Amino acid sequence: MDPYTAAAPPTDEWEMEIDAIESPPPPPLLKEPPKIRRLDESVVNRIAAGEVIQRPVSAIKELVENSLDANSTSINVVVKDGGLKLIQVSDDGHGIRYEDLPILCERHTTSKLSTFEDLQSIKSMGFRGEALASMTYVAHVTVTTITKGQLHGYRVSYRDGIMENEPKACAAVKGTQIMVENLFYNMAARRKTLQNSADDYTKIVDLLSRFSIHHTNLSFSCRKHGAARADVHTVATSSSLDAIRSVYGVSVARNLMKVEASDDDPSSSIFEMNGFISNASYSAKKITMVLYINDRLVECSALKRAIEVVYAATLPKASKPFIYMTIMLPPEHVDVNVHPTKREVSLLNQEIIVGKIQSAVESKLRKSNETRTFQEQTMELLSSSPLVTRKDSHSSPSLPVSTGSRSQKVPVQKMVRTDSSDPAGRLHSYLDAKPLGEQESRNSLTAVRSSVRQRRNNPTEAADLTSIQLLIREIDSNSHCGLLDIVRDCTYVGMADDVYALLQHNTRLYLANVVNLSKELMYQQVLRRFAHFNGIQLSDPTPLQELIILALREEDLDPDSNENDDLKKKIAEMNTDLLKQKAEMLDECFCIHIDQDGNLGRLPVILDQYTPDMDRVPEFVLCLGNDVDWEEEKSCFQAVSAALGNFYAMHPPLLPNPSGDGLQFYQKSKPAGNPSDRESEHNSITHGFSFKSMNFEGNDKEMGDDIDEELLSEAKSAWAQREWSIQHVLFPAMRLFLKPPASMATNGTFVQVASLEKLYKIFERC
Ligand code: ADP
Ligand code: MG
Repeated sequence: MDPYTAAAPPTDEWEMEIDAIESPPPPPLLKEPPKIRRLDESVVNRIAAGEVIQRPVSAIKELVENSLDANSTSINVVVKDGGLKLIQVSDDGHGIRYEDLPILCERHTTSKLSTFEDLQSIKSMGFRGEALASMTYVAHVTVTTITKGQLHGYRVSYRDGIMENEPKACAAVKGTQIMVENLFYNMAARRKTLQNSADDYTKIVDLLSRFSIHHTNLSFSCRKHGAARADVHTVATSSSLDAIRSVYGVSVARNLMKVEASDDDPSSSIFEMNGFISNASYSAKKITMVLYINDRLVECSALKRAIEVVYAATLPKASKPFIYMTIMLPPEHVDVNVHPTKREVSLLNQEIIVGKIQSAVESKLRKSNETRTFQEQTMELLSSSPLVTRKDSHSSPSLPVSTGSRSQKVPVQKMVRTDSSDPAGRLHSYLDAKPLGEQESRNSLTAVRSSVRQRRNNPTEAADLTSIQLLIREIDSNSHCGLLDIVRDCTYVGMADDVYALLQHNTRLYLANVVNLSKELMYQQVLRRFAHFNGIQLSDPTPLQELIILALREEDLDPDSNENDDLKKKIAEMNTDLLKQKAEMLDECFCIHIDQDGNLGRLPVILDQYTPDMDRVPEFVLCLGNDVDWEEEKSCFQAVSAALGNFYAMHPPLLPNPSGDGLQFYQKSKPAGNPSDRESEHNSITHGFSFKSMNFEGNDKEMGDDIDEELLSEAKSAWAQREWSIQHVLFPAMRLFLKPPASMATNGTFVQVASLEKLYKIFERC
C-alpha cells in the first residue's frame, strides 16, 4: 500500500496544528531546509499552559497560593469530578480591583513583581503572572471578587486570556472566588488520561493538608461538590503540632519529635531549620515529607533522600518517616525561578545544608531510639534460639518489592526483588553502629551476661554472636580518627576518574578510592546486620555449578578454549556440594539462599537502595567456595563478609566507560575484547574509503553508524547508575556508618591533592 495515502487526514483543529509543527523531515535528496514559521500565539499559549497546569492539583496549588498572597484568613476549596468538571477556590483576601479585571488573565500580568531584581527578595508565592492566564487556555474561568469598601462585587468570565464579557455587578462576600470549569476541555489526550486516574482528589486533599499544617493562622477546607462533610477542615490554631493532629491524626502527632538545626557562618551556610520528625514507634509504608523553604511548599529530592537514608538505616524497612520541616534562608540565597510550577527551588550551599540537617535528624533519632534498642537487644539475646525465629520468617511468603528507587535504572535482565516481609532486626544493625558510650557499655554488660546464660542452653548460637561481636570490636578499635573526621564531614565533589572520587573536607581536597571505601563499608555493614538482613530475591534462581564454571572460564587466559573443561566441571561440582552443605548457615546468617538443587535464589540487602552488579555473581560464588575456612567460626564469618564486601563494592562496571577512550570498544566491526587496538579499529572505519575521506569527512558519520548502540546504552546506564549510587548511596551511608581502618591512611585509599588556602595563595600571586 502506498504509505502516503494510507495515513488518515488529520481531523480536529489541534491535531492539524501539531501536524504542521511536526511535519516529517524532507526526503534526503531535498536540498532546501524546511521553512521556519512563527507559531500562532494561541498555540504558544496553549503549549505553555499545559506545562504550568499539569493536572487539577496544579491548578489548585496556584489558586490557593494566590489566595495566600491576597492575605486571606480563610480558604475553601470545592472540587467536582477530581477537578476536571469544577474547581472552586474562595478566599476572604483583599480582592481584585475593578480596573485590573480586563488584564487579569493575560499572560505575564502580575501585581507582585515589576523588575527582575525584585525576584531576589520576593516574598509572595506567585510572581510569573502565568497561572490564571494558563487556566483560561485550558478551561473556562470565572472570577467573582469584591474589594474593601465596595458595595457590590463583579463577576466576569475569561477564555484564552481575555474577558468574554464586561464585568457584571453582583452580590459578593469579602474576597475572591475563582471557578475553573471543564479543565483540559481542549486537550483530549490529557483529559482522557486524567479521567482514568482515580487519585486526583487524593492528591488535592493531600495538598490542602500540607498547606494547612504550615499556615496555622488560616482556616482551610476542601470538599467534594455536593458533599456535606469536608475532607480537610482546619481552623486557625497556634501550633503546627495541633494542626498535624487534626489533619493527619492523633497517631501521627503522638509519634513526632521536634527537630532543629541552624548555621550562621557565611563561609559555609546560613539557615534555620525547625520541624517535626517521626520517632521509631511511628509506622507507615510511604514517606510523608512536607517541606517549606522560606514559606514555599517545595520539594527537595536531595534532602528527602538524605533523610530516608537515615531512617532506612535505623528503622524497620516497612516504616517510612513523617517529616514536616521548615527551612528559612536569606531570600537572596534561594532561587525561586527554576521550575515552571515553582515546585522546586535551588539553594546556595545546598549540599552543606542538607548534610547538616541530615546530622540533626540522625542524632535526634539515635537519642530517641536508645531505650528502645536496648530493650530489643536484651530480648533477642535472651530468647533461646534467635536464629531459628529468623529462619521461620525467611520461609514465609515474601512480598515482591523493588529495592531500587525509581531513579535507579536497573537493566531488565538484572531486575531483582526484595523480601521486605521481615523488617525486624534493622534496629539491631543500628545498635551495632552506635558510637561507644555509657549506654553501650551497659548494653555490652547485659549482652555478656545474657550470652553466658544463653551459652548454657545453646552453646553454638551464643558463640555465633560472640565472634561477630569480636569482629565488630576489631573494626571499632582499628578505626582511624583523622579519617573518621573526613568521612563524617566530607562533601562529595564528583568522580575524578573511574575509581577515584574527589571530596572536600574543610579546606582540603582529597581523592578517595571508591572501590576500597565501598568494599570496607559493605564488609562492616554485613557484620552489623549479621543474621538480620532483608533479601534480594533473584528473578531466576541460578545453578551454582554454572556460575562457578563461568567464573573459572573468566580466570582463564583464553576464555574461549575448552581446555580443562572436565577439571572445571569437577571443581564446580565439589564447590557446589560444599556450599549446599553450608546452605543453612549461609541463609540464616547472611541471607544467601541456596536451594536443595544447588541454585542461588536470594542475596542480602547490605545498603538500602543498592543492588550489586550481578555480573560479579560468578566471581563471588567461586570465592565462597575457594576462600572460606569453614572450620573456625570467626574466620569463616570474616571471610564470607569479606567476599560479600568485595562483591557489593562499587567496582567500575565490566563494560568500559563509554565517555572518553572507552567509546571505541563499542564499535561493531572491531573485534571485541581488544579495545586498545586502535590500528584495527581505524582499518575498520576506513574500509572502502580513502584515508583522506576518513580523516576529513567520513569519520564522524562512520563512527556513529558502526557503534553497537544497544551495548553502548547498556554501558551508559551501568556507568550512570554507578555514579548515582556513589553519590546518593555510598557517600551518605559512609558518613553514617564507615569506621575507616588505619590502613586506609597509607594504602592510597585517601590522597590529599590540595589545600584551598595554598591554592588561594598561588592564585593571589598570579
Ligand atoms: P501571579 O500570582 O504570579 O502574580 P497569577 O496569574 O496567579 O499570577 O495572578 C495574577 C494576578 O491576579 C496576581 O498578581 C494578583 O494580583 C491577582 N490575583 C489572583 N488571584 C487573586 C486572589 N485570589 N485574590 C486577589 N488577587 C488575586
Ligand atoms: Mg499566582
